[in-house]
Amino acid sequence: MQLFISSAMLAELQQLALAAVPQEICGMLFGRDGRVDSYRAAKNVADNPLRHFEIDPAILIGAERGQRDGGEPILGYYHSHPGGTVDPSQTDADSAAPDGRLWLILNGQDAAAWHAIENGEIYGRFRAILLDCPGAKGLTAGE
Ligand SMILES: [Zn+2]
Repeated sequence: MQLFISSAMLAELQQLALAAVPQEICGMLFGRDGRVDSYRAAKNVADNPLRHFEIDPAILIGAERGQRDGGEPILGYYHSHPGGTVDPSQTDADSAAPDGRLWLILNGQDAAAWHAIENGEIYGRFRAILLDCPGAKGLTAGE
């Protein structure tokens, strides 16, 4: 299992993350077989967007409906950690369903990919996976 994203797309997300500091950004990733084909930015509707994220339910519901109706398959989610590492937090684990979707966590410099599963090594929910991003510099890749 790995997450493939083009360096151009990751750079766009990192620019969005930098522009939003100190708030966390978030959104949906679409694609199949671990490859990000597109993303959709969502409003962060968390009570405290400086420390948490919650994807606008309208975006979430729209994406699920689109997938069900034969549209873009949901690959997973992305969000930023403006002041911290790109490791999942305990809160991330608490809010993640063990649905096999992929999580991309980034800040202006780094990014890492995680698989949301039952009994993951990290907080019982995530497994580190390879972030395959050809040409990207300075990335912290998972195992
Ligand atoms: Zn987080």
